[in-house]
Amino acid sequence: MRRLETDVVIIGGGATGAGVFRDCCLRGMRTILVERGDIASGTTGRNHGLLHSGARYAVTDSHSAAECIRENRTLKHIAGHCIERTDGLFISLPEDGLEYQKDFLDGCKRAGIETEVLTPEQALILEPSINPSLIGAVRIPDGTIDPFRITSSNILDGREQGGTLLSDTKVTGLIIHMGHVRGVNCIDQRTGEHFEIRSRQVINATGAWCHEVMEYADLSVDMYHSRGALLILGHRMNNMVINRCRRPGDSDILVPGDTVSVIGTTSTHVSRDELETMEVTDDEVRVLLKEGSKLAPSMASTRILRAYAGVRPLVSLSSGGSDRTISRGLVALDHAETDALPGLITITGGKLMTYRLMAEVATDMAAKHLDISTPCTTASRPLPGALLSDDDKRTGKKAQVGGYSLADSSLPKSVAGSAVYRHGERAKDFVKEDSKWNNAVVCECEVVTRGEILYAVDKLNARSLSDLRRRTRVGMGPCQGEMCACRTAGLLAETRNNQIEALDTLRDFIDERWKGVRPVLWGDGLREAEFSYWVQEGLLGLGGSEGNKPDETTKEKTSLEKSEVEANP
Ligand SMILES: Cc1cc2nc3c(=O)[nH]c(=O)nc-3n(C[C@H](O)[C@H](O)[C@H](O)COP(=O)(O)OP(=O)(O)OC[C@H]3O[C@@H](n4cnc5c(N)ncnc54)[C@H](O)[C@@H]3O)c2cc1C
Repeated sequence: MRRLETDVVIIGGGATGAGVFRDCCLRGMRTILVERGDIASGTTGRNHGLLHSGARYAVTDSHSAAECIRENRTLKHIAGHCIERTDGLFISLPEDGLEYQKDFLDGCKRAGIETEVLTPEQALILEPSINPSLIGAVRIPDGTIDPFRITSSNILDGREQGGTLLSDTKVTGLIIHMGHVRGVNCIDQRTGEHFEIRSRQVINATGAWCHEVMEYADLSVDMYHSRGALLILGHRMNNMVINRCRRPGDSDILVPGDTVSVIGTTSTHVSRDELETMEVTDDEVRVLLKEGSKLAPSMASTRILRAYAGVRPLVSLSSGGSDRTISRGLVALDHAETDALPGLITITGGKLMTYRLMAEVATDMAAKHLDISTPCTTASRPLPGALLSDDDKRTGKKAQVGGYSLADSSLPKSVAGSAVYRHGERAKDFVKEDSKWNNAVVCECEVVTRGEILYAVDKLNARSLSDLRRRTRVGMGPCQGEMCACRTAGLLAETRNNQIEALDTLRDFIDERWKGVRPVLWGDGLREAEFSYWVQEGLLGLGGSEGNKPDETTKEKTSLEKSEVEANP
């Protein structure tokens, strides 16, 4: 059996694992990150992408609120290309009253979150999409964060420091010798090869699945798996994050992100057997639409692109609590201290928002055991590409990318601008002024070029269409890959010299997209799905895909949905 050796093995390539990877590499540890799928394919790729100001927890969870606002400021500094400083509004509707607003303002003050109380008229001028019947509003420094980009940037930095990423590789066991964790057993999911990695520290960053890794060592943790469903709307309806000013509840956040808006979320306790069940139910869609339309009434008549769900990795530290009240704070367990099992550290709980802090805490623990005194630098060192400030990104004025100036570019602004928007300073690695072929647009909705696709394959470890979607947003826009999926598959076939693999990845992509589209099929969306099916089956011979045909049951169900939504705008 093949054996690798290193200082630290990290299990899990979500934002937390990626953050630990970067931190360990920057402190000079030999590091390998093992992810069973693609990076950011777990909960990290299944949330709103809200850069919390902490205000959402100001009343119910003061500690998490304070953690969020500190990290909010840090991430704005180190990850400009992954963040939009949109600010947010907490609006009170007549049915909410203004009572909660007082507690909310007190809570924000306690946590150190800046607030500005606005009149309804002022709020409507700032964000015209909000419900005009609001009776009050508070402005707070919420923003948006692209979960895929931030994870990928952390991985890129770690790899540039010498770290190794093993994606599509599952950890199947811990190697325990003389009461000490000495490494992990793995399987390469593509080739089926079993191998082991010997290491001095193992860091379990598997989020909602962390109990499974702990069970390899006969340890347990009281996870509280809280599932949430979300809908992606067909265009960007709002420019500020819109929240309801009331106790956190269903469907009370509308987050803008790139070209779309996301409404979320529901919150349901699920058992550990349901962690892989990501299908969104009719009831969840119904609740999201009905409650969401109260935040922004035009939502009721806006096309919905897709639905998705994720499971929050919450830890139940005390008995009791519910989905909404349980702490969003991070949980770090040094098993040398908690279970007399040296060599294993678990980092879970928390939020996307606090991934860097979580990484710092876990890396500090590993560094202590390895006698490494190099301090953490991740709070001040910008991520690769992040040299542009948010304003530069928006205006493109000062975007000076390694001698390449966006303002002077002869390329269409959408082409150069999108590249810089997504990759910041690193856009220089693939935007070539004089190469029409390189700058040819592959995905019109998100303006992704051939050069960007090739860069993602070469530098960002993208191996399939879905990986490319996560790295570049190809196929994420309003057409959901209708036109660009085939072109991108063609490019993949070219780079990997393997047409069969490209067809397989196209089929997987279509299946994956279908899962998200199916729960929201009615009206134009349903017509478009029928059209897609004909194209895919008739033109491309991909009809064998897993059930991607709108059938009679779907139609009946969705026309029911449609009438309910119309009755309840
Ligand atoms: C509906 C919803 C909305 C949310 N909204 C927000 C928000 O707006 N803002 C915010 O800050 N937070 C939000 N969160 C919380 C946030 O998404 C999570 O806290 C965060 O993404 C967790 O990241 P992670 O890296 O710890 O876990 P994950 O992203 O789940 O990563 C764990 C990884 O471990 C891998 N893995 C598991 N087992 C193994 C194994 N045996 N071998 C190898 N790999 C393995 C998995 O494949 C996975 O990729 C939301 C969560 C949900 C569910």
